[in-house]
Amino acid sequence: PHGASPLGPWITISVGVAEALPQADLAPLSLFVAADRALYQAKDTGRNRVCLSPGVSRQGTAPHQSGLLLSAPIGMSARQQGMATVQEAQTLMDGGLWRLRFPAEVEEAYLNSRAEERRQHIRWSAIAGLVLFQLYLFGGSDHFPDVPEAMRWQLAVLCATLAGAVIFSSRLHMPPWWREVIYSAGASMLAIASPWMLSHSQASTVWSFLNCLLLIPLFAGAGGRLPFWLALPPALCMLGSLVVYLRPEGVQANLIFMDSLANLANASLYPLAAAYTLDYAERRQWLLSRIAAAQSAHLSEVGAQLRELSMSDPLTGLPNRRQFETRFAPWRDQAVRSGRSLVVAVIDVDHFKRYNDALGHAAGDVCLRDIAQSLARVWPEGEALVARLGGEEFGLLAMADVHRAQRWGDQACAAVRDLDIPHPDAGADRPPLVTVSVGIYCAPPGVGMGLSHYLSRADGALYQAKADGRDRTVLAGEARRVKPLV
Ligand code: GH3
Ligand code: MG
Ligand code: MG
Repeated sequence: PHGASPLGPWITISVGVAEALPQADLAPLSLFVAADRALYQAKDTGRNRVCLSPGVSRQGTAPHQSGLLLSAPIGMSARQQGMATVQEAQTLMDGGLWRLRFPAEVEEAYLNSRAEERRQHIRWSAIAGLVLFQLYLFGGSDHFPDVPEAMRWQLAVLCATLAGAVIFSSRLHMPPWWREVIYSAGASMLAIASPWMLSHSQASTVWSFLNCLLLIPLFAGAGGRLPFWLALPPALCMLGSLVVYLRPEGVQANLIFMDSLANLANASLYPLAAAYTLDYAERRQWLLSRIAAAQSAHLSEVGAQLRELSMSDPLTGLPNRRQFETRFAPWRDQAVRSGRSLVVAVIDVDHFKRYNDALGHAAGDVCLRDIAQSLARVWPEGEALVARLGGEEFGLLAMADVHRAQRWGDQACAAVRDLDIPHPDAGADRPPLVTVSVGIYCAPPGVGMGLSHYLSRADGALYQAKADGRDRTVLAGEARRVKPLV
């Protein structure tokens, strides 16, 4: 109900509507400006109606020029990024078993995520390889008596040196793949040196020993959890040097030779196949955790942006009404604890509609922002909370006595006066029209005294200030009777 309205017994609204086909060159503000123009048309033609804007210009004012700060769509870049990661991970998961070698960048991220595991793997493979190699070299010496003892020692020392280098390198800080290359190179050298040494023996049992040497590439790929470059070069080197150094003589030797080659090929294929299969579950798990991490990072980013957006006013940068309401309770509790009075002020810009109508909404925005900044300077941060409550109305929350509150109010009026906002009527040589009126309520918080208790009294004082002639401060209730100490 609205008894005082000239339009009827009810509150009514006026609506301005603008429409446009979204196109790349549609200026961000132009729809808003057109809708605003239509709204004023609705007001001018009698209110309580809807007006449609005739057209929307393509090249409107940019937001920063007009003063209206349109915030960017929430978390746009983050969302795009997040989706890219999630989609990428999803695509890889859908790729199935045989496409589990990830694209280079992802593969590197995956391998790096397991750097410590790879380091340990290399170290224990080298230790186990060293022990087994020595065991076979000396334990099986009866099988190839024609190989000189010195040569066997040379090989043992080479093997120990290589294993030592690998174990030592596993203690150094270096990219995991360097260590694996060192390991792979060492195993390849051994794979060449061993058949060379054994080529000095005529014993056919050499071949069975060679089968044992297959352990070198096999160890390299044990578990198939390491990149396949680790296993393949030693295996290929072994295969090549066997063919070069050892030429079988006789049917039996030939059979063992062929058998050895087959086993070697088998052992080379094994780590390769294992690398593509055993790893599957782990890779899947990693992808899932990557999706989860990307989503939760995206969510918390968007959450933070939403919180920020929901708590501040985009035009002035001041806290908004929601923040004002949310922070009232802590201020009140602190006032109760410290036995001080709580101050709530409502500040309204005077004659702002006329200013807006004369100079346009965009100029009004700039003006509002200037006023907001000067109000924020009057009440220093920490001592008071200044918020935009809505439209051209601001709120203040502070702890102070009535004298200080009165002084603050007077300072606020003076600060806006000092802005020298020009009179909207062109050429008019009159005192500034746009000032502020301040209504203040100041009282120690008591039981049941919520924000609305304070606001309604401050609002009453504000309307008193308007009635008394604007551009002034009025203190509400009992506080008004206190003689200011000016
Ligand atoms: P009074 O001195 O009695 O307060 O008069 P007034 O014209 O300031 O008050 P009224 O409530 O009639 O008009 C308030 C005007 O504030 C109307 C509206 O166009 C303008 N306004 C509210 N919010 C905004 C805004 O965000 N930007 C701009 N440019 N104008 C705004
Ligand atoms: Mg006003
Ligand atoms: Mg108002």
